[in-house]
Amino acid sequence: MEKKAIYEGKAKILYETDNSDELLVYYKDDATAGNGAKKGTIVDKGIMNNKMTKFFFDLLAEHGIEHHCLAVPSEREMLVKKLTIIPLEVIIRNVAAGSLAARLGLAEGTKMKIPVIEFCYKNDDLGDPMVNRYHILAMELATDDELTTIQNLSLKINDILTKFLKEKKVDLIDFKLEFGRDKDGKVILADEISPDNCRFWDSDTKEKLDKDRFRRDLGGVEDAYKEMLRRLTGQE
Ligand code: ADP
Ligand code: UDP
Repeated sequence: MEKKAIYEGKAKILYETDNSDELLVYYKDDATAGNGAKKGTIVDKGIMNNKMTKFFFDLLAEHGIEHHCLAVPSEREMLVKKLTIIPLEVIIRNVAAGSLAARLGLAEGTKMKIPVIEFCYKNDDLGDPMVNRYHILAMELATDDELTTIQNLSLKINDILTKFLKEKKVDLIDFKLEFGRDKDGKVILADEISPDNCRFWDSDTKEKLDKDRFRRDLGGVEDAYKEMLRRLTGQE
């Protein structure tokens, strides 16, 4: 059967499947930064991000976190549970970097005393503006209960990932999550977890092992993704 693309985003394409409850996600090599202002390609990024996302989802599932991944039918494809995405980018920050460092005048690398959770309204035309709990409730982007669930899940995910990555000599600086509702209204972790949406720094050297190498023209972009994959899975 010919697959029908229902959405093409900046990094992935979503296809319909024979099952109306499932979608096929295709991971591209396309890379963008600054909400699409900078465009490029990271060779084999789609393959590496699919593998790393699967790895992190398996790890989270072992700790009782439900996620959307059902199977990985090929190296660039992930079969997922179709969800109604809650239009929020949930950002968790352990160390100041990027836009937080700029906004609050903090030196990059400043440790936060507690993990900081931020929400951005997922809207490319508006440049994903930051919103708070009041905006979210007033705009009915999510309910109060859903927000509490999202917050608790995000902090638990942060704990699991931070502890695991520490053993791999990687500091989890910050990352972005997305959640969606299933048919029964249950809030489930969606999208991806990879160097595209996380900041990973080598614990000793503080070398960046994530998409900041692309965003900031630091070079060695592919090697950074490869190194993360190697540290997680031992795979070259
Ligand atoms: P963007 O939309 O920001 O350009 P991507 O290229 O990564 O990002 O596109 C993937 C899209 O798929 C995102 O809009 C994301 O919200 C959506 N998505 C992720 N998981 C699911 C899911 N399980 N069901 C439906 N949509 C999903
Ligand atoms: N992030 C993301 N998608 C976005 C914005 C941010 O995945 O549209 C991730 C980013 O990779 C980083 C964290 O969220 O791990 C915080 O990003 P920040 O707000 O500092 O944004 P940036 O510096 O990229 O503008």
